[in-house]
Amino acid sequence: MSIISPWKQDFPIFSTRAYPRLCYLDSAATCLTPKHVADAIYHYQCYAHANSHKGLYQLSANVTEIVEQAREKVAHFLGANSGQQIIFNSGTTEALNLVAYSFVEPLLIKAQQQETASNIVISAAEHHANLLPWQRLAQQYQAELRVVDLMPDGTLNIEHLRSLLDSETRVLAVTHCSNVIGQYEDVQQICQLASDKKIATVVDGAQAVARGAVDVNAIGCDFYVFSAHKLYGPTGCGVLYGKVEHFDNMRPYQLGGGIISSVSYQQSEFIAGPLKFEPGSHNVAAIVGLVEAIDYLNDLSWHDINHYLNDLAFYLQQSLQELKYFKPLVKLPLPEYKGVTLPTLTSFQIKGVHCHDVASILDSEDIAVRAGHHCAQPLHQFFAVNSTIRASLGLYNDYSDIDRLVAGLDQAHQLMLS
Ligand code: PMP
Repeated sequence: MSIISPWKQDFPIFSTRAYPRLCYLDSAATCLTPKHVADAIYHYQCYAHANSHKGLYQLSANVTEIVEQAREKVAHFLGANSGQQIIFNSGTTEALNLVAYSFVEPLLIKAQQQETASNIVISAAEHHANLLPWQRLAQQYQAELRVVDLMPDGTLNIEHLRSLLDSETRVLAVTHCSNVIGQYEDVQQICQLASDKKIATVVDGAQAVARGAVDVNAIGCDFYVFSAHKLYGPTGCGVLYGKVEHFDNMRPYQLGGGIISSVSYQQSEFIAGPLKFEPGSHNVAAIVGLVEAIDYLNDLSWHDINHYLNDLAFYLQQSLQELKYFKPLVKLPLPEYKGVTLPTLTSFQIKGVHCHDVASILDSEDIAVRAGHHCAQPLHQFFAVNSTIRASLGLYNDYSDIDRLVAGLDQAHQLMLS
């Protein structure tokens, strides 16, 4: 088959100077960077760099403006009402730790003081970033960590979720799209169940943002988090969206310059709004990169991106399902998926071949996939496997990458038979 990515040329890594033969199937780990994003970072760093929110001179004021406009841009991308609901940090991992420390831990402390039990609810599909912070809090405050089962198709079991939420649930933290299963959860319905019981919700959007169309108001979550590098932006930059009423009541996560209204040796008062959670110097270059990534994707058109990725995802599933040695972690009923947003990632095993061996053989053909538990060890235990191979798609992939993957898997399978 030959559908060629119209956007591959935007990614310099495929140029003859770098990796012209690269078949990159690991966008779920990190997306490659279009030149627009790299150029924007370069331009900022060379011609506009200063510290934000501090200097009174024009250059610094311009950088403050860049950061504040970036908040508005990200708010718009997420369908939020205001840039004041957007906190910048280093990524999804930090954003989740921030919510755990600044928002949920005080709730647990309060409950403990009132001698009331607490529980935290997550799903079985969570990345360690959306598990470990809750696990630690649960251990520290003798709270129960409740885990929602999955359905055979890998989506969250809504009835089980319903049964786990109660008046002692302090937070529900769920992924919008698992980095192992790839299906989109109905987070709107999930968050509604929680908010009906006045339970706060955190949605891990790390994998979901690459298909655009996030609408935090429609989802109704209290917090939504994602990383710029899963959206063709740079690493070291993440976003925490929060409902407007929360930030004022939350304690700062880390302490340092730029977050106070007054300080004495014994006492500090903190400013209001997102800056309270952004101590120290902003990673402005990365924020610039994130804004450029959003502009780049908007310019391509989300409709075209999603149409293209869906087509590719269908071809990936179809091609793999034809292999008699293909063992998917979750089998998608493919015909039912025509016209629905298909997962752009798939996790699977090859009968008789260890996942790491498969990845090494593919690597020898310049095909990059992930092998292991993908920072979701309990999820693998849930499906009673140790590891899987994960292939994930991005804007630069086309049918020929999937054909190369299939040929590489054939080779791995043959090698092990011989
Ligand atoms: N959650 C999910 C679903 C992810 O896929 C990832 C990244 N693999 C993370 C959280 C953590 O993101 P980061 O490493 O950018 O903090």
